[in-house]
Amino acid sequence: MSKEKNIVTAFDSIKNEVLDIVDSFIYTKNLSGQYTYANQAVLDLFEKSLAEVVGFDDSHFFDLSQSKQLQLNDRLVMDQAIRVESEESNFINAKNETLIFKVVKKPLFNSDGIVDGMCGISTDITAEKKLQAQLDEQSYLLDTMLNNIDAHIYVKDSERRFLYVNSRVAELFGDKAQNIIGKKDTEILPEEIAEHFYQSDKQVFETNKKQVIEETAHDDNGDTSHYLSTKVPFNRPDKLPALIGFSTDVTELFKLKEQFKQLANTDPLTNLYNRRFFTEQAEKEYHRAKRYSLSMTLISIDIDHFKSINDNFGHPAGDQVLIEVANHLKASLRQSDILARIGGEEFSILLPETSAKSAMVFAERIREEQSKLKVIGDWQGAIKLSVSIGVSSFLSSDKAFDAIFSRADKALYQAKNFSRNKVIYL
Ligand code: GH3
Ligand code: MG
Ligand code: MG
Repeated sequence: MSKEKNIVTAFDSIKNEVLDIVDSFIYTKNLSGQYTYANQAVLDLFEKSLAEVVGFDDSHFFDLSQSKQLQLNDRLVMDQAIRVESEESNFINAKNETLIFKVVKKPLFNSDGIVDGMCGISTDITAEKKLQAQLDEQSYLLDTMLNNIDAHIYVKDSERRFLYVNSRVAELFGDKAQNIIGKKDTEILPEEIAEHFYQSDKQVFETNKKQVIEETAHDDNGDTSHYLSTKVPFNRPDKLPALIGFSTDVTELFKLKEQFKQLANTDPLTNLYNRRFFTEQAEKEYHRAKRYSLSMTLISIDIDHFKSINDNFGHPAGDQVLIEVANHLKASLRQSDILARIGGEEFSILLPETSAKSAMVFAERIREEQSKLKVIGDWQGAIKLSVSIGVSSFLSSDKAFDAIFSRADKALYQAKNFSRNKVIYL
């Protein structure tokens, strides 16, 4: 044996050894599709010896009716003399199962440059494919869930970059989710809004604690929406800190809450504030007056002989009188005045930062205007009425708002005793 041949033989045996220890399936076939070489991995897969493989075609090892891509790829390589990189799903007879392979197949040429076979390297990617399919399924399920939840959900990193937005957020920002993901909030939102959101984001990053925030947003139509937002820190190893945000539209709830508040503060007949709300506000104003030594005056109004209006015209007529008296009082108020129906036919007006003198002028005008009021309705003739008024101002010696209230009440009592249709200051 020549030295050269020795080297080639030695090299061949090393080559075979290498080919046999790799996990990939390595093989060559002739133009008829019969194996001319198969490494150990192929033999193990087919559960055959080399002699049982070489000279045989794939019909002996695969169920070809379930392995279509394999044949197509082989033909492509050998008929068109091209390299093919592809995936094959092949049913292995020996294993009685379908495996998925990533394959690279190349034509082999004879010394005249004509294709006389092919070689292939296939890798079993069944496990990866299964895992990928599971991940895809999970991701699809998660996406479907997140996009159908009635909430805005997003993930943002500490550099203000969106890592995820669900379809509700995309809708809100007026773009597709894939156009938003990867961009910074400043690239997507008007600067002011981006900054507003970033303020609460920063709190999450600084404290590494969950934040719950009530947020208000105004849209182009002038509508206001209210959101309840929860931002939770989301830390991933070797990645920038991030947060997950959940934002639910609570506008309806907010409106309902406002309505309840309004109902709790309002007298249903006249739509004026009720005694509860009046007292609450009056206490606040009293403390403000005391603290800053401001003047403040209270006017108490009571309809004269109201009982006889009810008696003569009926209760519904009495109601109508109350409504009209209330409307007239309301029309004469300044912005800061607080008017309430305190009880049956009694009203109070709190006049912050108002002296006794100007309050008396105001009270006198009320008395006069109410005495000119004629209430007409489903009854004979017009109802005429008068009111008695007690006025009292905040004194520095007062210990509580009640003191002013009692003085005004006393003044009112005196006005009643005096002649009615009268204003008295105490
Ligand atoms: P005075 O001049 O001394 O104030 O006499 P008055 O009749 O106005 O006072 P009185 O307190 O004797 O009567 C008040 C009446 O107001 C008795 C009550 O039936 C009536 N009243 C209270 N609330 C309502 C209401 O919501 N609707 C109607 N129609 N009447 C009411
Ligand atoms: Mg009364
Ligand atoms: Mg009365």
